[in-house]
Amino acid sequence: MGYFENITKYGHEQVVMCHDKNTGLRAVIAIHSTILGPSLGGCRMWPFKTEEEAVEDALRLSRGMTYKNAAAGLNIGGGKAVIIGDPNSEKNEALFRAFGQFVESLGGRYITAEDVGTSEKEMEEIKMETEYVTGLSKTDGGAGDPSPYTALGTFEGIKASVKYKMNRDNLKGIRVAVQGIGHVGYCLCEMLHNSGAELIVSDIFKDKVDTVVKKFKAKAVNINEIYKAEAEVFAPCALGGVLNTNTIEKMKFQIVAGAANNQLEDEEKHSKMLDKKSILYAPDFIINAGGVINVYFEAINEYNEGKVTRKVKNIYNTLMKVYETSREKAITTGRAANSLAEKRIDLIGNIHKRYV
Ligand code: NAD
Repeated sequence: MGYFENITKYGHEQVVMCHDKNTGLRAVIAIHSTILGPSLGGCRMWPFKTEEEAVEDALRLSRGMTYKNAAAGLNIGGGKAVIIGDPNSEKNEALFRAFGQFVESLGGRYITAEDVGTSEKEMEEIKMETEYVTGLSKTDGGAGDPSPYTALGTFEGIKASVKYKMNRDNLKGIRVAVQGIGHVGYCLCEMLHNSGAELIVSDIFKDKVDTVVKKFKAKAVNINEIYKAEAEVFAPCALGGVLNTNTIEKMKFQIVAGAANNQLEDEEKHSKMLDKKSILYAPDFIINAGGVINVYFEAINEYNEGKVTRKVKNIYNTLMKVYETSREKAITTGRAANSLAEKRIDLIGNIHKRYV
């Protein structure tokens, strides 16, 4: 596929290939849309096998950020960066400062943050070269780890889904199967437990499972058994692509509502499959927006915990709107979520100038 064919496929504005001879930096910065404001999205470091894979990831993820940021009601567009390299062995200050210089060269059209393979430490290094970076540690005046806010948004999303599907106002006695007890999964388990929900959990690391079994009276299941767990809600908080033909066939859940990115292996096919089984699906980019809401307020220099919490809790209402649109228009919840984001971009785009 030619370069322009590739970037026009998803409607990107700009894709920058970055190379620094001294540090060996090879990175791709993809700016999908600046209609709502400068593009914001994390910087992922990953040992991509091919350049094509790295470009494709940057394109797909940056488009996702446009939708996530728009639907969350943020005044910001969507972008993403990927650095080709192994985060376990190839990270160094010079590499990230070289990356920071490329971010700076875009004059604010792209604001970077942490993602898979990068952390607050690398954001500090980038900060030495550019102000267009967010997600710094609290001790350095930043918003800190976004995971607790992602968990809070997911918790609100589960409450909205239970209200919509089961007409229940609280989670007392509701069984929730949580896949992945990482940064987000652990906080989510704590909130669910405190609200009276019963937990079923799985993780590839036994110590993580043991902790939540002990602290929150969770029941542990094998990583392959979580899909057929006897629970009302399935909350994927580990990997992408976990909603596929093989796993959906096993499911007896009423609701899928979790924090993982890109949960549907095939957006169209698998959201229809869930629909057919009457499983209510909370679109991932709506329910997991808590983290980006947190870094957004840092990026615009208006960080305030109360403000962030209010906005994150509003995920409850956004999700309800998505469910109602899906019912009224007889479309999948995924399509309803996309149309919510597209409508906002269209409306604001008409009164807003592109960020240049
Ligand atoms: P994390 O790496 O801290 O946790 C992921 C957990 O999943 C780990 O404990 C890992 O051992 C476990 N895991 C991996 N494979 C598994 C499997 N097959 N079965 C069960 N468990 C498995 O990541 P995180 O920050 O908690 O993020 C979780 C998900 O939420 C990711 O998909 C991430 O992209 C998404 N997300 C996170 C944030 C955030 O603020 N951290 C924001 C938006 C979306």
